[in-house]
Amino acid sequence: MPDVLVVGAGPVGLTLALQAHRHGASVRIVERRAEPFRPSRALIVQPRTLEVLQPLGVVPALMARSDIAPRARLHVGANTVPVEIGPFGWRDTAFPHLTMITQMNVETVLAAALAERGVPIEWGTELASLTDEGSRMRVRLGTTDGYAEETCAFLAGCDGADSTARRLAGIGWRGRPYRQEIVLADLDLSGDLQPGVAHVVVARSGVVFVFALGERARWRLLVARPGGDGPDAPGIDELQAVLDDSGLGARITRMAWSSRVRLRHGVATTYRRGRVLLAGDAAHTHSPAAAQGMNTGIQDAANLGWKLAFAGRGRDATALLDSYETERRPVAGRILALTDAVFWGESAGGTAGLLRGLLAPLAAPVLPLMLRAPGLLSLGGRMLSQLWVRYPTGPAATDEWPTADRLPRPGARLPDDSVVCGNERLPVHRLLERPGVHVLLQRDAADPRLSRPGPYVHVHRLADRVGGGVVAVRPDGYVGYRCGTVDDRLPAWLARVGAL
Ligand SMILES: Cc1cc2nc3c(=O)[nH]c(=O)nc-3n(C[C@H](O)[C@H](O)[C@H](O)COP(=O)(O)OP(=O)(O)OC[C@H]3O[C@@H](n4cnc5c(N)ncnc54)[C@H](O)[C@@H]3O)c2cc1C
Repeated sequence: MPDVLVVGAGPVGLTLALQAHRHGASVRIVERRAEPFRPSRALIVQPRTLEVLQPLGVVPALMARSDIAPRARLHVGANTVPVEIGPFGWRDTAFPHLTMITQMNVETVLAAALAERGVPIEWGTELASLTDEGSRMRVRLGTTDGYAEETCAFLAGCDGADSTARRLAGIGWRGRPYRQEIVLADLDLSGDLQPGVAHVVVARSGVVFVFALGERARWRLLVARPGGDGPDAPGIDELQAVLDDSGLGARITRMAWSSRVRLRHGVATTYRRGRVLLAGDAAHTHSPAAAQGMNTGIQDAANLGWKLAFAGRGRDATALLDSYETERRPVAGRILALTDAVFWGESAGGTAGLLRGLLAPLAAPVLPLMLRAPGLLSLGGRMLSQLWVRYPTGPAATDEWPTADRLPRPGARLPDDSVVCGNERLPVHRLLERPGVHVLLQRDAADPRLSRPGPYVHVHRLADRVGGGVVAVRPDGYVGYRCGTVDDRLPAWLARVGAL
């Protein structure tokens, strides 16, 4: 019986499977689709996502497929404004940039990392029913050969916005459809669009993006606009009309694929019922504006994966598992508010359309100056980066010394500052690459008394941090414990979260 059955091999399920497996869980991952390829939706990975993926060893492969200095041309009325996005000059992260990479590339890299660990994705296998038997889950999995009954300790529902796991577990959904829609297409275009850059047209009718990131053709069209009742796959005439309205002067020479995405926003009424836990779009869905959905889901997975693995080690892990929702639900709330506001601004009709139509041409002449102003793009990038995520204190983020203000606060992300450890000066995140909890001792701290440290506790002494205090950094890179002195409370906390 596997410790964790992951349902769905999207970016969230793949990350969760990796995070749980490297922390000692036995994992199965099933996916309804018969084959890996599907047209990408997400195109941007945020800095905090790269930080949580770094210990999984996948970042070099992601970087090899990414553009970290994306260029765009903003077309506003008769004006065209070239924009170069980043790097932002932030010193607390190894990833101070916007990263453009297709969702398919992200999934390919994560799937390859899972394969390297010997965890196969079971394609063409879908969750059909589940029963929580108290001490384990019983599930029915369907393939073209029929149905098979299986058991698992925990089930992670990473099966997207229409989650079967959510429905079968009887978890409700609070949300509503948007009035706006997204139209996507992969196109070959003639005309004089500058190659290799993203073209963005802000108009009263919505915002048109043409990215040089097509998968089945050269360009990817993405239109955010007031919703209509068109067909699920918009035809070439509808798409040509969009391009004609945009004024980009491009003609479609081939349409490889198109889709009309009718979006909803909302959150599951709970992230956990018994042994079923939800992550990613299964737990929260919102518009793609501001490029947050996949990023938020991957970070759910980084938070939940190690907790499921450590919870499977036989002790009462209720508090640890409950901390997943306590920590991640408020993040989804903030992301929903942010993406709703941006989506309204870029795609709503009525007042928003009027404002776009009026303000965009007025702003066009000053845009180049505004974009050159130090800090403006950086501020915007920081808002979207998710580097701001921090969790409330609780069982997985315990503060034993609230006045120790020279130590990072539990629940906060550990900034990637430079430290001295052994005889080496290095970014502190490099110390966090092995799976498990990392105990960071200040220079003069006592050695912790850990009778059996095991494979998931690593102790580092920071020679340039004066004092006798200690912090413990969790596998997802958040501070889990802080104390101004090293005593028996540290091993007690490590045992409570299942690391010992
Ligand atoms: C137009 C658009 C643009 C976007 N751009 C961005 C962006 O730039 N940045 C960003 O962060 N996000 C973006 N998003 C959001 C992002 O695509 C989603 O948040 C992300 O795909 C969610 O990942 P997931 O793994 O939770 O779910 P999914 O990607 O939906 O994967 C769920 C998987 O579960 C499988 N499945 C479903 N039911 C079952 C079952 N019963 N049994 C087995 N398997 C099952 C499905 O086949 C699927 O493979 C965008 C979304 C859209 C629509």
